[in-house]
Amino acid sequence: MNRELLEKFHQVAVSPRAQMDKYLAEGKKVVLTAPVYTPDELISSMGFVPMGAWGADIELNRSKEYFPAFLCSIVQSILELGMKDEYKGASALVVPSLCDTLKCLGENWKYAVKDIPFIPMTYPQNRKPDYGIKFTRAGYERVIRDLEKAGGTYDEEKLAQSCKIYNEHNAAMRKLDQVLAGHPEITAAERSDIFKSAFFMTKEEHTALVEQLIADLEKSEPADEKLPVLVSGILTDAPGLNSIFDEMNMHIVADDVAAQSRQYRTDVPEGKDPLTNLAQKFADMDNCSVLYNAEKPRIQWIVDTAKERGAKGVIVVLTKFCDPEEFDYVMIKRACEDADIPVALVEVDRQMKEFEQVRTNLETFRDILTI
Ligand code: SF4
Repeated sequence: MNRELLEKFHQVAVSPRAQMDKYLAEGKKVVLTAPVYTPDELISSMGFVPMGAWGADIELNRSKEYFPAFLCSIVQSILELGMKDEYKGASALVVPSLCDTLKCLGENWKYAVKDIPFIPMTYPQNRKPDYGIKFTRAGYERVIRDLEKAGGTYDEEKLAQSCKIYNEHNAAMRKLDQVLAGHPEITAAERSDIFKSAFFMTKEEHTALVEQLIADLEKSEPADEKLPVLVSGILTDAPGLNSIFDEMNMHIVADDVAAQSRQYRTDVPEGKDPLTNLAQKFADMDNCSVLYNAEKPRIQWIVDTAKERGAKGVIVVLTKFCDPEEFDYVMIKRACEDADIPVALVEVDRQMKEFEQVRTNLETFRDILTI
């Protein structure tokens, strides 16, 4: 196994500020992109490097001047980092309107972090009908106008080219997810680094590294199987959490994590108008707690994927105070139990220092699965 390559993913994943400084030193402009889905293809086509801003595992102090304690810590930590000048040098922050907490972020950001403009991306709930696609397209037009004020230039040809680059990255990440399912020697921590680093690199750079890793893995002999599990949630990048997965000898054979595979399931379709194609991509997306689906196909997706990948159990990693995920959990639990797939729920947030409750929970779950 190419340890150097894994170390490269790790270094990028743990040092987003160094990546940002590198791009700024190269004369590039950086635009921050908040969870969960932002039009990165468009942002990149206008001459910016989109960098994921999903917060960090830090103590929250100054953000409390703006947010009550019962909002998810991902959003609170984004504001905390902004107020501490950790994002200094960014040209803008794009925030999608996909949950109530995110809607509050932009409004507070305008007052708390005055030197980085906030750009809203307002998505429709009903994204699939024609009127929904037109609404999304109009939202992208507004983002274009705001990015132009930040120094970007819109060009249809460049957007079409950018969509191809992002589709290639999506394909590489989907393939990687499949290949990793057959390689238990890649730890949960390493898997997290590979996915997380994608937020802090240009897609061309990340695709090249991922393709190299896939080629290396395909040539190497897989280690003996560990305990195969499917992990679901918004964010699972906490080192304390991943070290417990590894300590419990668990192998993540599939994920339904918003910061991981959910990002790469849907491509931009081909068509004459690149901006409409991008809006169509959003319409085509499914199986996510923040995307409205009356029939909730996400629940069956989890059951089917767990069976298909041979997962012995499903672990739901719930970000505290995340309403969209809390609503779905009861349905996931019932559907998995009906399908004889054991489920464990662990709660995490970005301020957690002690993971002992998670350890006890997953230790018990491991024992249940291995009886
Ligand atoms: S974790 Fe949940 S509440 Fe927080 S931003 Fe994401 S979807 Fe919204």
